[in-house]
Amino acid sequence: MNVNNLIAALERKYPIEKEYLQAVREVLTTVEEVYNQHPEFEANKIAERIVEPDRIFTFKVVWTNDRGEVQVNTGYRIQFNNAIGPYKGGLRFHPSVNPSILKFLGFEQIFKNALTTLPMGGAKGGSDFNPKGKSDREIMRFCQAFMTELWRHIGPETDVPAGDIGVGAREVGYLYGMYRKLALENTGVLTGKGMTFGGSLIRPEATGFGAVYFLCRMLSEMGDDIKGKTVAISGFGNVAWGAAKKATELGAKVVTISGPDGYIYDEAGLNDEKIAYMLDLRASCNDVVAPYAEKFPGSVFVAGRKPWEVKVDIEMPCATQNELNGDDAKMLVDNKVQVVAEVSNMGCTPEAIETFIAARIPYGPGKAVNAGGVATSGLEMSQNSMKLSWSAEEVDQKLHGIMNSIHRACIEYGTEPDGYINYMKGANIAGFMKVAKSMVEQGVI
Ligand code: GLU
Repeated sequence: MNVNNLIAALERKYPIEKEYLQAVREVLTTVEEVYNQHPEFEANKIAERIVEPDRIFTFKVVWTNDRGEVQVNTGYRIQFNNAIGPYKGGLRFHPSVNPSILKFLGFEQIFKNALTTLPMGGAKGGSDFNPKGKSDREIMRFCQAFMTELWRHIGPETDVPAGDIGVGAREVGYLYGMYRKLALENTGVLTGKGMTFGGSLIRPEATGFGAVYFLCRMLSEMGDDIKGKTVAISGFGNVAWGAAKKATELGAKVVTISGPDGYIYDEAGLNDEKIAYMLDLRASCNDVVAPYAEKFPGSVFVAGRKPWEVKVDIEMPCATQNELNGDDAKMLVDNKVQVVAEVSNMGCTPEAIETFIAARIPYGPGKAVNAGGVATSGLEMSQNSMKLSWSAEEVDQKLHGIMNSIHRACIEYGTEPDGYINYMKGANIAGFMKVAKSMVEQGVI
């Protein structure tokens, strides 16, 4: 494989899909050396095949708002690769959603899902629908309209969507209700479901919890632990909430959260009451964190800025792609950050990652650090097909085991000659090898 030629061809074909090209470049560059040691990969054109989605569904979503006005959005489902299991990945509802963003997310999902050790392929979907300021009924009508198109393309053994930004338990509930009505079946066709209709315990917390379990492994590899460490978290959604909850429970001090409006600096650190308040903030559907500072005196709201300027031991970006850039990374290195555990998908830009690696600061990439979410979705699928449900302890124990095994895979494939663990390289190679081998074994299809 010649990565530069392959990327150049993709740039000509998809010139405006910058997030997709960024994700492809990162993975192919890191796997190039190992890839070229496997002539069967080249003979089967694995790289050329793996970068193209199997298929993309694009559809119109028409719904009516509370004022009786007809609204038109675009819906998508990208079925990227199902070599190792049914297509699996979340749905994102956000005005920024476009084919490039969903293709990058779907591509990343292939390797993340492979890392979980569970049989799941990669997919992603969503809509440019903006949930901000929408009433509950509007959300419901949108989800129902979205599912009237999506339902014919998904199924418990075919493609299993879940949540992502803008899609939580409420949206999954409305989507599931419409699927059930149209397909006349109750199956594990979606994950992240409510507990009364097949959801798994721990799924709401899983991404954040898993990220902290992975972070603890990174720290123990350095001969350190999380107790007493200061942590900066960005975002204030489900993932940030789970990470804040587990990090706090294990004795860390989380001092920031953030939203599109700016960030909160809370010197005293988050506690149970403040973490619970994050859910109220999210439920308000206004997408702002400023009210936190009014509710909790002693904390400050910093408008229009990101939390990276606060000096801490550990950074956990939990918001969205490319939220931490090269300049931010240089500032973090100057501020002597100890570990960066990226929880958002592709949260750090290539320049930021390069800066961390050059400074030999352990950097855990999203596809390893946040894999606990989709892993627990995989556990939800297992419970649904067995028609039983596991206790919270059982699920949490399995999640722990999965995060440990992802960490081990990163060490196996990512340890550099000087002993530095390049988690990005390790995660990319471990995930890629599994999918590539299974594609070779299954023939040219
Ligand atoms: N959206 C989450 C992710 O990025 C979860 C996907 C899922 O559970 O299918 O991995």
